[in-house]
Amino acid sequence: MSTGLAKPKKLKLTDYEVFQTLGTGSFGRVKLARNKQTNKYVALKSLKKAEIIRLKQVDHVINENTILGNLQHPFIVTFEGFCQDPRYLYLVLEFVSGGELFTYLRSIGRLDTQHAAFYGAQVASIFEYLHSKNIVYRDLKPENLLIADDGYLKLTDFGFAKVVEGRTYTLCGTPEYLAPEILLNKGHGKAVDWWTLGILNL
Ligand code: ADP
Repeated sequence: MSTGLAKPKKLKLTDYEVFQTLGTGSFGRVKLARNKQTNKYVALKSLKKAEIIRLKQVDHVINENTILGNLQHPFIVTFEGFCQDPRYLYLVLEFVSGGELFTYLRSIGRLDTQHAAFYGAQVASIFEYLHSKNIVYRDLKPENLLIADDGYLKLTDFGFAKVVEGRTYTLCGTPEYLAPEILLNKGHGKAVDWWTLGILNL
């Protein structure tokens, strides 16, 4: 890659004991696993190689994980590296135990002002960090914010994230959250992330 980002670390699948399914992703399941040496729990996200190739998502997957592997922030899920077997690629991610903000918002209805400010400030901190590295995230929504056991948020799913200096033109994101400049195909940049925070409407 020409972005100056380091490549993700190769890990060994046999170093992990695999437990139950935590959720289902676009290319396979996400399972709870434990590193046999450190006893640390991780989320093992499996991606079926044939499916990635069939859907022409190879560059996309490489891009997503190269970006995530180069980030270190308390409100962004840590990507430890990847393992593989002949059929699957496995992403080793920090295990986040509290589920999606989406599910929480559905159960609570509406957040009070203090609670909304608490989450909003964390998202602002995440974007400040990403934008300082010229990374635009482009897919903020409650489904992509997980809640950690201490109550703080962890952003996940860097599928549309991109290193952008200036403007970029690809139409991507989630329909309800698209900024006008994306829809008008005028070229877009970091500002589209702040638009999605407005739409999040905590
Ligand atoms: P995709 O991007 O392919 O849709 P996700 O990354 O959203 O897949 O993962 C699917 C589901 O797996 C999530 O909704 C969540 O329930 C679970 N999950 C994903 N990552 C983690 C994690 N790091 N810790 C705990 N559960 C996770």
